[in-house]
Amino acid sequence: MRRNAHYQEAAPAALSGQVTVDLSAISENVKALKKRTEAPFFMAVVKGNAYGHGLVEVARTAVEAGADWLGTAQLSEAISLRQAGITVPILSWLYLASQTSATILEALENDIDVSLGSVSQLEVLAGIAKRLGRPAVVHLELDSGLSRGGARKEDWAELVAQARQAELDGTLRVRGLWTHLAWADVPAHPGNATAVAEFEDAVTEARKAGLNPGLRHVSSSANILDRPEFHFDMVRAGLAIYGLAPADHLNPADFGLRPALSVTAPLVMVKKVPAGTGVSYEHQAITYEPRYLGLIPLGYADGIPKGISGRSVVNIAGRSVPVIGKVCMDQFMVDLGPDASGIAVGDTAVLFGDPACGAASADHWGAAIGSHGDEIINRIAPRLPRAYANGAHQDSAYECPDYQEPGTAGQGHVA
Ligand SMILES: *Cc1c(COP(=O)(O)O)cnc(C)c1O
Repeated sequence: MRRNAHYQEAAPAALSGQVTVDLSAISENVKALKKRTEAPFFMAVVKGNAYGHGLVEVARTAVEAGADWLGTAQLSEAISLRQAGITVPILSWLYLASQTSATILEALENDIDVSLGSVSQLEVLAGIAKRLGRPAVVHLELDSGLSRGGARKEDWAELVAQARQAELDGTLRVRGLWTHLAWADVPAHPGNATAVAEFEDAVTEARKAGLNPGLRHVSSSANILDRPEFHFDMVRAGLAIYGLAPADHLNPADFGLRPALSVTAPLVMVKKVPAGTGVSYEHQAITYEPRYLGLIPLGYADGIPKGISGRSVVNIAGRSVPVIGKVCMDQFMVDLGPDASGIAVGDTAVLFGDPACGAASADHWGAAIGSHGDEIINRIAPRLPRAYANGAHQDSAYECPDYQEPGTAGQGHVA
């Protein structure tokens, strides 16, 4: 194909927004978290495309930083990690045994540990392991009150008895016992102690049945930070490795954690409007004086929550400016105030990122919509391009990304 050099040079950057993931933040967060636990093993949870950050990139970074295990909900993600050449142990905890046996077989062939929470799952898994010709390696899950996966305590004795029998038959090997706490984010809640006591009873029962599970694991991010007595043999860190708050009372910065992901977009238009101008559909915002409005080319099709309007800010040229008017499908408006000097078309708007660099955090956006940062980062549309940065500030003073710099596009205001 003939290439047009001029076109290549002049080609504008993609108009939509940009997701930037700073892998050095992931790396430093993993290291900071590992220092907070005496559990011998550390699992980095990379489900949901690593919370929207990019499965393989995050997994590689976490392993390099010292994660011993990786965790995914879906088998397909665990298999993708193996296809990428990642060799550390992986646990995957969500699958429908009866309908995905080809995938389960592929997972077992790839040395992926799977969770097991019922006798019927066990039977299917044992059958697949027979085809494989070696035992499936499993972690038995106790439902300690979340009522999600796992066996309830009244079904536990049967599960461990069957699991032991399957070990003797050569179809299973029980490597771990685990549970996921319903009240992890609320440390004072009595449900935590009850659940952990139930888990300890379940461990005792499993041992009595003849199982010898080396890995007991209970804690996700919140309890890594605030409940060392719940760490057992391994902790499972999700949100905290991405630098977001795992619970309202835990501020990531207090633990040396910083967000890895930022979303930016170019400011595509600036216009002056008179007092009394309605903004966006149904004019939910109306200017009370002459104001400058800015246009950002991202909308709810990109995962920008509609509820953010009037409740959060974006950072442009070092200024925090509010999102106003209804968020549209591909675009939304910001209020640049009565004086937009210093702000120009082409400037980078930072929707959220590292608060230490003047951006709103995804946690702030989450709180603004009555949720948490995890919902914000997870809903960013796959259509947004992702770029990986590796600031590697471990040995140097912390440097903010470029986005704090005022833009120099110099195209002036569209009045
Ligand atoms: C998501 C998840 C985690 C990680 O939780 P965070 O609060 O993000 O740290 C740990 N364990 C299981 C089973 C999970 O589903």
